Amino acid sequence: MKKALLVVDVQNDFCSRGALAVKEADSIIPVINKYIELFEKKSLPIFASRDWHPKETTHFKDFGGPWPTHCVMDTFGAEFNCRLKLTSKTVIISKGIDKEKDSYSDFQAFTGGGEAFLDVLKRFNIDELFVCGIATDYCVKASVIDALRYGFKVNVLVDAVKAVNLSSDDGEKALDEMNKSGAVSLTFERVGKIISD
Ligand SMILES: [Zn+2]
Repeated sequence: MKKALLVVDVQNDFCSRGALAVKEADSIIPVINKYIELFEKKSLPIFASRDWHPKETTHFKDFGGPWPTHCVMDTFGAEFNCRLKLTSKTVIISKGIDKEKDSYSDFQAFTGGGEAFLDVLKRFNIDELFVCGIATDYCVKASVIDALRYGFKVNVLVDAVKAVNLSSDDGEKALDEMNKSGAVSLTFERVGKIISD
């Protein structure tokens, strides 16, 4: 069984000047790149998810949902931030394609070939995930909670996540909830040691 890195939604619309910009999201990109480099060096799989919505979806305010329009598939806003250094072997999964579902969790995401994320993880023999990205209080949290529910060991890379914080403590609360559900909070130095063991 293997460890893998999961990079959640580091897309233009969630970064500075994006349609749904998360405060200071850009500041975690260099840290995420360090994690990518570490996992790449150890030949461990890297997965990157993206929010990938149709133009009209009940996820958007204009159609009765909670959010401004963001990450519309095949637009600049939905592209990964250009400073994110994904490797050529990174497996990209997309979620939010269903126009009647919010799909915050990466376990509602699929590869371009239509393979569900859970099946991809089984195919790669993954039993432990290291999760970073945007946003702590939405897609990171939903993905972490689902991963724990499916029996994965889950680590949250707390130096490489950022929260929307509609309420100022949403990010803190989300981390609490993830930890109480069984996730372990880690930072780069510790992960480096774990991966090297
Ligand atoms: Zn979305």
